[in-house]
Amino acid sequence: MSSESNAVVTIDGPAGAGKSTTARQLATRLGYSFLDTGALYRTVALSARQLGIDWADGPAVGDLAAKLRIRFQPEGGVNRVLVDGKDVTDDIRAPEISQGASKVSALPEVRAALLGLQQVIGARERTVAEGRDTGTVVFPNAFAKFFLTATPEERARRRLLELEAQGRPAPFAEVLAELQQRDARDSGRAVAPLKRAADAVEIDTDGKNIVEVVALMERLVRERGG
Ligand code: C5P
Repeated sequence: MSSESNAVVTIDGPAGAGKSTTARQLATRLGYSFLDTGALYRTVALSARQLGIDWADGPAVGDLAAKLRIRFQPEGGVNRVLVDGKDVTDDIRAPEISQGASKVSALPEVRAALLGLQQVIGARERTVAEGRDTGTVVFPNAFAKFFLTATPEERARRRLLELEAQGRPAPFAEVLAELQQRDARDSGRAVAPLKRAADAVEIDTDGKNIVEVVALMERLVRERGG
């Protein structure tokens, strides 16, 4: 790959659409690195909470986002997330931090602070990036873009399985409501809202398994020379 613009694949979509799992598997199959952009917003939300900074305080959270040293460390198929050297991989997955991430991610100061960091990571090596605005804002020149969807109920079911696997079981109705609140906030915000890039391929993952979805993506990426 010669230019920065053809070294990135983006996968966007609402919570629980299967972005992380497919992005991780696609990256492995292609020999690309994997960038979980949601982990950055989650880390900012967690750090703000720990420091007593209000999630609605744009200047203060933006300042924090610009200062934090967030690093990803691949380890046995998992990307550990380190902030100022401390491992926060599990803590950032707590449901209240999901809501916090969705709140701080609507702040323009936070988006501005994290934009450059994502672009630097993407420029370093061939990357599969996943999030909400990776195809629209962060990597508008990505050579392959995907937008994953599934019904809210299917997405809540998947999220519930994930939470159970992490030892955090929750009632289905609560998980569904949490997901719908986040979707509404992520789609309705003024800056970089969740939306499909005009040139993204939309994949409805309802009734499809991960293997099928990843195979579909891999075929398209390879057709484009990736
Ligand atoms: O993808 P994940 O659920 O980990 O993302 C957590 C939250 O971070 C999302 O609900 C969204 O508000 C925010 N986010 C974002 N832009 C991205 C990735 C995540 O606003 N590119």
